[in-house]
Amino acid sequence: MTATPLILMIEDELPIRRFLRSSLAADEYRLIEADNGQQAIKIAAQQPPDLVILDLGLPDMDGQEVLKQLREWLQAPIIILSARDQEQQKIAALDHGADDYLTKPFSTGELLARIRVALRHAAQVGEERESPVFVHRDLQVDLATRRVFVKDTEIHLTPLEYKLLTTLVRHAGKVLTHRFLLKEVWGPLHLQETHYLRVFMAGLRRKIEDDPAQPCYILTEQGVGYRFAD
Ligand code: CA
Repeated sequence: MTATPLILMIEDELPIRRFLRSSLAADEYRLIEADNGQQAIKIAAQQPPDLVILDLGLPDMDGQEVLKQLREWLQAPIIILSARDQEQQKIAALDHGADDYLTKPFSTGELLARIRVALRHAAQVGEERESPVFVHRDLQVDLATRRVFVKDTEIHLTPLEYKLLTTLVRHAGKVLTHRFLLKEVWGPLHLQETHYLRVFMAGLRRKIEDDPAQPCYILTEQGVGYRFAD
């Protein structure tokens, strides 16, 4: 990645483009803009971006289709923009390889925070992880020995709890949909069993969180899934 990350913004609404332009310029990102899907795919191929911001409602083609076409070759993080009533579309986009989402209207602070997390996550995935020990605040997960510690006390997890935790940890900072977690932990035959997830998540939180009602490690993305704090 270059010193100044290149961001491709795909959005047809001029006021939102202006808002993104001023937010990002102040934070010293380089920005290229596309106002439709065809143009965006062409630009991305000519000038591969470090990050993509993609609006799902585009005039010429479905944002999901743009996402799928970009994901065929582009590894850079993709953050989607969606409207409040586009819950299902948002989930579908995450399942199709989007990294994160912002629901309109959003603030500059929110936007910049999501961009930082996505770029940091991409950089971590790009380099070989030297240590198999994941540490966040008081939680330590040793992926080599499969041991988990909170404040230096070992926590005993069931195999499924461990798998759930490590799936979240391996994608720290990224929103994981219910469907994705069910597929990773329980397998493709259990994609509808969201109650498994609720039950195991509650058990896991009781073991690792100080206050399971106010979790600081595993955050709930309402109606979408979960995210390990970054
Ligand atoms: Ca739009």
